[in-house]
Amino acid sequence: MALSNPSTFLITDPLAQDNVVPTKPLGVEMVDLDDIPYRAEPQVDCAFCIVHRSHRDGYFAILSNGQRAPCGNCCAAKFDAVKKQTIDKNRNRLIRERECRNRARVLSEGVPILKEMLQLAANTEDLAEPARVILGEVLNDDARKDLQSRGVQGLSFLDGCRAKPAFARSALDSLLKLSSVSKADYQRYSEKRRQAEEQLRIAAHYHMDCTSFFAPANLAALERWALERGNLFGVKQFEAKENILRAKGPSVWRNLEIPAISPSTMLQKFCANPPHMNDV
Ligand SMILES: [Zn+2]
Repeated sequence: MALSNPSTFLITDPLAQDNVVPTKPLGVEMVDLDDIPYRAEPQVDCAFCIVHRSHRDGYFAILSNGQRAPCGNCCAAKFDAVKKQTIDKNRNRLIRERECRNRARVLSEGVPILKEMLQLAANTEDLAEPARVILGEVLNDDARKDLQSRGVQGLSFLDGCRAKPAFARSALDSLLKLSSVSKADYQRYSEKRRQAEEQLRIAAHYHMDCTSFFAPANLAALERWALERGNLFGVKQFEAKENILRAKGPSVWRNLEIPAISPSTMLQKFCANPPHMNDV
């Protein structure tokens, strides 16, 4: 006759519980109220009053034949007002606990994917860093402005990634550990999540800048620029061949391997359309 997880979870489908009948069989009486409350979603009908009043918050009446039947507020109060109050308190506690679990669920929803994206973006930064340093020396601010005006993409990668992935990672990890969150803590945690997503957005934009910058057509545009106008900005030559990039600044040749960054559709989508949490 055990009902499923009676002490932890609020029952929402009373008629689906073991040994529960929707109506009172003939010749059978209510002998007690079960301690366990329910909140019926959708509502159920009371098995006792003449109008069979439908209700959401109800009680399991124990019948003389050992079965149970749904019982509404009035009929439960009529049978045992004191016990009814105790059951109501129990229901309220279970409802609060359910709300706490629900907040935790909302806060941690999709966090593993956010973490995966953060890792991808952090890999991009590691891959791009040597190239960023070298090209940062070759292309001065005026050169960058001129390149930008000529449609060369992704130049802001040269400014470096301003994201704080370690901060974002620890914030996301703390969200994953949540199993129950009070109303008071919810704002604090959702602010944490917002900040982590903001860092991820910065990192994702950096990834996008890198992939645009190192796209073959973009490097070809840079080569043309170096031939036509580079000298004005101290860039003697710029060549991209296979995976090697050679750039000659005012004096020296700098060779570097073109970082093997594969464009991530996941990060691209995140940039275009950052997710937002449902409110609880
Ligand atoms: Zn009733």
